[in-house]
Amino acid sequence: MDIVSHALMGGALGLASESSMKDVLIVTAFSVLPDVTQIPIYFKISHQHKRLFWLPKHIDWMDKNYHDRYPGWAAVWEAPHSIFFLLFVVAPAVLFFHLPKMAIGSYASHIFVDLFTHKSKWGIKPLWPLQFKFNGLTDTWVWQFKRLVLSWLFFGLIILLVRWYS
Ligand SMILES: [Zn+2]
Repeated sequence: MDIVSHALMGGALGLASESSMKDVLIVTAFSVLPDVTQIPIYFKISHQHKRLFWLPKHIDWMDKNYHDRYPGWAAVWEAPHSIFFLLFVVAPAVLFFHLPKMAIGSYASHIFVDLFTHKSKWGIKPLWPLQFKFNGLTDTWVWQFKRLVLSWLFFGLIILLVRWYS
């Protein structure tokens, strides 16, 4: 799923569970954390294609088959999308630093939603380093902007409902 939808979903979880704005922001941050490792890959791919503002186009990810040509890059993205990473790195860190426990749920929500919104080459490997790949329903990261806006409106509506009932 796209980063804005992830952040809105994390924001909804934060607003539903936390009372201080600082904790809401922490929970929101954990909803986008699994994709943070992609930032250097974005720069690398956009640099190779000479894209404006380092923003690669969808075709840039597909046409050169980056996933298979650079398995190390792919692993940097796949590892934080693993349930094992959640259990053995994220959850202990949240507990050790006394962060809101919903941060674990927020991170888990990212993995869960990505299972269904990534497919084929960029399908999620929820048991990484085991290579079992979950083939999702669609690749939302290649959605047109109009469809992304619908996703943002949907999660924005959920945030309004959460605010209303809390
Ligand atoms: Zn992701």
